[in-house]
Amino acid sequence: MARLGNPKNTIEILNKYSFVFQKKFGQNFLIDKHVLEKIVKAADITKDDFVLEIGPGIGTLTQYLCESARGVLAVEIDKMLIPILEETLSDYDNVTILNEDILKVDVNTLVKKHNNNKPIKVVANLPYYITTPIIMDLFEKHIPLSGVTVMIQKEVADRIQAKPGSKDYGALSLAVQYYAKPYIAANVPPNCFMPRPKVGSAVINLTPYENPPYHVENEGLLFSLIRASFNQRRKTLVNGIYNYEGLSFSKDDIINALDNLGVTRDIRGEALSLEQFIGLANHLSKYN
Ligand code: SAM
Repeated sequence: MARLGNPKNTIEILNKYSFVFQKKFGQNFLIDKHVLEKIVKAADITKDDFVLEIGPGIGTLTQYLCESARGVLAVEIDKMLIPILEETLSDYDNVTILNEDILKVDVNTLVKKHNNNKPIKVVANLPYYITTPIIMDLFEKHIPLSGVTVMIQKEVADRIQAKPGSKDYGALSLAVQYYAKPYIAANVPPNCFMPRPKVGSAVINLTPYENPPYHVENEGLLFSLIRASFNQRRKTLVNGIYNYEGLSFSKDDIINALDNLGVTRDIRGEALSLEQFIGLANHLSKYN
């Protein structure tokens, strides 16, 4: 089977199966060899690794993953792509193709079944309409992970790695940085895909912390505080938390917690670091 990753071979296989792109599935297939090599390099895959690929499409990135990893599990929602994948991956005996919705399938069970519950690497050119739920699910469901390397919208990648004070900083930056260390490995223009997406893309690498660097009394409270603080970005933190449905602290409690942190009482959420949010949550958990 010919190697994919260029426009000619991609068009050939799409025509052979009269494949029709489904917009609703965020189908933008990679057609650039250099970008594919960059993804595999950024993911740092060795023959010890088991890789979960979300949305293999016609199997372009999957071929590269099969070459470098011990095993690959490719989960694809579109059943029209399954016969194509069976052909394009026919040279490899270390791949399993699964026709499922990644947001509905129990990934923990898959890791148990396919990798003895040992940490896996997730590598994907993600469907952009569900980038955030896919990434957050991997972390919140505590999937055993040794790395996540994914192509996502450039704008989302910037938000994920943003630091306090920048316009991109928000709930997503804090949520991801709580679990992992982000690093943008490459920026990728629309002409590397077929069809071309309307936005720029980036490959982001997320290295999960083996041992959480922070002590958090109540994770649920931490995440509620983060959401409350960015729900109404222009509000002070005191008002954001005080008015947030689901949190019932008095203004005095919140002011006490801010004084304890050593920050001004009119501070906004966007100025607080992750460590400070954790300090705030740990202090407020006493009043819960
Ligand atoms: N990996 C291929 C590539 O790089 O050429 C295709 C990437 S394309 C951006 C996203 C892929 O994810 C498509 O094949 C799409 O059908 C699939 N997909 C979309 N939603 C999905 C879901 N909920 N679960 C699994 N796969 C999904």
